[in-house]
Amino acid sequence: MENKIILDGKRVADTVKEKLQPRVEKLKEKGIVPCLATILVGNDPSSATYIRMKGNACKKIGIESKKIHLPEETTTEQLLQTISDLNADEQVHGILLQHPVPEHIDERLAFDTIAINKDVDGVTSTGFGETAFNFGRYPSCTPAAILQLIDFYQLPLEGKHAVVIGRSPILGKPVSMMLLNRNATVTTCHSKTIDLPTIVRQADIVVAAVGKPNFVQGDWIKEGAVVIDAGYNPGNIGDVDYEACSKNAGAITPVPGGIGPITISMLLNHTVKSAEESI
Ligand code: NAP
Repeated sequence: MENKIILDGKRVADTVKEKLQPRVEKLKEKGIVPCLATILVGNDPSSATYIRMKGNACKKIGIESKKIHLPEETTTEQLLQTISDLNADEQVHGILLQHPVPEHIDERLAFDTIAINKDVDGVTSTGFGETAFNFGRYPSCTPAAILQLIDFYQLPLEGKHAVVIGRSPILGKPVSMMLLNRNATVTTCHSKTIDLPTIVRQADIVVAAVGKPNFVQGDWIKEGAVVIDAGYNPGNIGDVDYEACSKNAGAITPVPGGIGPITISMLLNHTVKSAEESI
């Protein structure tokens, strides 16, 4: 495909972060340091890496990060108490509970304990509902990143057929709602979808959020389609077979350097916004 656009997530993320810097300075002049609290339960190495990356990103633009690391055997009640304490802490503007938590914990209950005004990762049921109704304060960060990328590159959405592969509460479902709110015609696919390739071949925009490396195949992509890979699998591998899908795609995100960096910038953006709204 001639004139293919490589959708550069780092460029989009840098643009978001540049705009955050003066807002953080302004808050500091008023004596407020935006603060993101991160909670990690257990010792999953990937989760620990994500938390570290988020902490470093906060530091770079002057956001404080308060890292809470709880042991694997933490009970649901203990986790809920930690979240409640952070809800009550006026110095904390955003709370991020790293997913997944150990299996014995009621993850949904834990997410829903996060105060809505500190739900900067859009994980609460209320936050999801608000996003679906199109007045979400802080939509889930990866879906927000996908929309940020689409807007940065001015990719048209209205009337376009968007096929989202995946329906998780933090990714596939909210991004489907957000695309629908922007007047795309949306098909959401999942593991029980019959004949996925035929559906994907109809897509003007493909969003891959499956959690399976190189899952989306080159011959599923319609000529000129926009391919957005939200996947992030071990070894920095996306959910899209990039080389094969690049052939037909009109625009495509790489992995790494696509949706990942923008997701972190959205988290920072939401934390700063929450600090601004706390005044
Ligand atoms: P998830 O909770 O495991 O959900 C995966 C979804 O894919 C499910 O809805 C599942 O369907 C669907 N699926 C699985 N196999 C399928 C198949 N053969 N055909 C069609 N659909 C299938 O994963 P997630 O948390 O949404 O994450 C998805 C991907 O995004 C992962 O690679 C993850 O690492 C990445 N991610 C990236 C970021 C970032 O910042 N870039 C953030 C979050 C997640 P069912 O519902 O039927 O099971």
